[in-house]
Amino acid sequence: MRQLILKIHSRCNLSCDYCYVYESIDQSWREQPNTMAPATLDQVAQRIDEHAKSHDLRELEVVLHGGEPLMAGHAALAGALEKMRAAFPATRFAIQTNGILLDDRFLALFHEYGVRVGVSVDGGPAATDLHRRYANGRGSYDRISAGIARLMEPEHAVIYGGLLCTIDVDNDPGEVFEALLAFRPPRIDLLLPHGNWTTPPPKRDRPLAYANWLIRVFDRWYDHRPVETNTRIRLFESIIARLFDRPSATETIGGEQPGIVTIETDGSYEQSDALKTTTEGGPATGLAVGGQSLDDVLDHLAVAAPYRLSAKCQACPVVKVCGGGLRAHRYSAGNGFDNPSVYCDDLLTLINHIGGRVRADLERAVSARR
Ligand code: SF4
Repeated sequence: MRQLILKIHSRCNLSCDYCYVYESIDQSWREQPNTMAPATLDQVAQRIDEHAKSHDLRELEVVLHGGEPLMAGHAALAGALEKMRAAFPATRFAIQTNGILLDDRFLALFHEYGVRVGVSVDGGPAATDLHRRYANGRGSYDRISAGIARLMEPEHAVIYGGLLCTIDVDNDPGEVFEALLAFRPPRIDLLLPHGNWTTPPPKRDRPLAYANWLIRVFDRWYDHRPVETNTRIRLFESIIARLFDRPSATETIGGEQPGIVTIETDGSYEQSDALKTTTEGGPATGLAVGGQSLDDVLDHLAVAAPYRLSAKCQACPVVKVCGGGLRAHRYSAGNGFDNPSVYCDDLLTLINHIGGRVRADLERAVSARR
């Protein structure tokens, strides 16, 4: 077990139209309790404790997730963090939030437990308010940016994890990147909107729209990597890492990463949330913290959801880098997961572009040394 994603609160104060939790074919959130109960948290802590002891774990990352995890409230979050730290003191914590409720009490709590805070924002006001809205249609950029501004205060740099941006190819990539950089994030995650061969992602009919968008951002980042913030972009760094046989840091690149499990607010174990976009019950495992250990669920996933590449991927010249893309993006109703990624053409083009740029630089460096 490397990473546990804990759904501490299953509802959200926003109603983003691309949300894979509420807007996908899987509607299991409707059956989930709003907040993880203290008794369920006790069971989670017990599972962490037994797993850490039986594997002599040196570290484990717990990501507090939702819905919107800050809606659980200060006391519930403090209780959850304390239980998990008591179960395994080497636990590293992160939280993924929309930042709207971020206040002094949460910030103090995150300092106390060393919680790295990631905030979801899609660029500047226009780009963000295009999708990230309240249920009444009002944009959320003002509140989100106020939350990020708190994290930008120097004393909070140590808990500022970075930004998560979901791509809309209608937003200008240069403007989005500059708007994100203005928040001086240590890291940016660029998320391809979820979709598959049966339910394609938005604007999938425009050939290479995602590759071209990402290439514009890559070239800007690679040529003028912001020295002041040294902002990292996990997608690009993972592609470069795989070009040199190093591990990827994202499931989108390089094949699936075993050892990641989600626990829903009712204590059920699930696979990646992205599978909510495939079928009703797509991420379900049928197992729960009350009955099964973390070893049980990892064994179950190894058998029930093995990592297999389609014939096209196996013959692909960049498979070592790409790994077939995210599992959820490979799904089709007729063929299950036995497909390349629905983003195949975009991934191939992006990987070839990044590979070409990096190789050209290396060749220049080698000849300069000679
Ligand atoms: S680029 Fe396409 S064919 Fe190649 S590994 Fe990725 S998804 Fe498979």
